[in-house]
Amino acid sequence: MFGYVLDDIFIDHRAPSGHPERPARAEAVRDALVAAGIASQGTHVATRVASDAELAAVHGASYLSHLERVVPGKTGWLDPDTYFSPGTWNAALSAAGSTSELATRVMSGELSQGIAVVRPPGHHATRDQAMGFCLLNNVAVAAAAARSAGAARVAIVDWDVHHGNGTQDIFWDDPNVLYMSVHQFPYYPGTGAPTEIGGAQAIGATINVGLPGGSRDPDYAAVFDHVFLPAIEKFKPDLLFISAGFDAFEHDPLAGMRVTHAGFAHMARRLRYAAERSAGGRIVAVLEGGYDLDGLAGGMTSTLRALTEPAPSSIDLAPLPTPDKLSRAAIDGTLAAHAQAGSPIPAPEDTK
Ligand SMILES: [Zn+2]
Repeated sequence: MFGYVLDDIFIDHRAPSGHPERPARAEAVRDALVAAGIASQGTHVATRVASDAELAAVHGASYLSHLERVVPGKTGWLDPDTYFSPGTWNAALSAAGSTSELATRVMSGELSQGIAVVRPPGHHATRDQAMGFCLLNNVAVAAAAARSAGAARVAIVDWDVHHGNGTQDIFWDDPNVLYMSVHQFPYYPGTGAPTEIGGAQAIGATINVGLPGGSRDPDYAAVFDHVFLPAIEKFKPDLLFISAGFDAFEHDPLAGMRVTHAGFAHMARRLRYAAERSAGGRIVAVLEGGYDLDGLAGGMTSTLRALTEPAPSSIDLAPLPTPDKLSRAAIDGTLAAHAQAGSPIPAPEDTK
């Protein structure tokens, strides 16, 4: 049974006027998923706040006590991008806790797949720092919770247009969490070079593909076909997360990619296929960025369909038209960086 987190608590994180990470984003996703029949397709998972132990698994004690001192019930800024309002702390704790709850229930077998429609987003939050609209790293907290619930290995695919520097930072030296990101590069937050492949204890467990601005659906699909899917197959995670941002959408105001609703479907279907092959079907998508309401609504609806419809076979995943040569070069650059470092995942022979 499919499970989902969807609650107006996440609308109570109120943005200053004109800020792109605004409550209307969650409302647009909610309305689109309700219209797509999410309630008849799965189980609603009630929100809960993250426990102190869940947060402490990925965030530093002094950072958490700073947030607890500064954020609850107040309005202000943690950095030039990252605001808080009186409802923010409860939303942030609920985003991390509810995503963890969803992942834990998928690990127990009670649920087969899940979608968490949460805000504030999480993937820029490092162990000790809020940034890029993110306070707590929801997918990281949930990945750690899944490990506590019995997952030996967890993989995270981050298709938000920005590099998930926070998630990478948190799991940099952890060989049991495979972090893979495809993002516009160079771009905010500046990290995500192909040579960033993980710490000494976890070489190969971080994989970055930085695509040039203007990349389209075939470029993204090629990243999945040549890099991410072979890596997932080799890593054999017990659970696969999607850091699902929709700011690579063709009309997104914050970035310069050209991904369509269909492009998000191509990516989600590939990951559903990979989860069925290598992760017992266990897959959880977590909302990150995305600032065009149509991109959010269409992208998340595509993701819902990919996760709830029968899993595709390899025949259903025919390659898209040839990627642009700059994108192909980016893919080859990532594979070469890993090969040069002797990384076990991925390897150039995987590209066949
Ligand atoms: Zn983003």
